[in-house]
Amino acid sequence: MEMPKTVKRYCKKCKAHTEHTIKEYKGGRARTLAKGTRRHERNIAGYGGKYQAIARRKKANKKPTFVATCSVCGTKHVFSLGKRMKRVQLA
Ligand SMILES: [Zn+2]
Repeated sequence: MEMPKTVKRYCKKCKAHTEHTIKEYKGGRARTLAKGTRRHERNIAGYGGKYQAIARRKKANKKPTFVATCSVCGTKHVFSLGKRMKRVQLA
């Protein structure tokens, strides 16, 4: 799947269609003291079996998420494509 590097789309802040640069979204590192991480550690600790079902088969492909940055005001818009793609190439 190929994505254009720049795209004209609507910017909520500018209230107009402006040029946006597109990048693939990459999540940050998980914080060790975040609420969810602490809960996860608490649930895993001790006896009591598994607390989350483990996926038997992992999905091979992910739904790609992109970040479009407005070239006028710099606002970032995160959006995702609804389909699973084998590979994302920013053309
Ligand atoms: Zn803008």
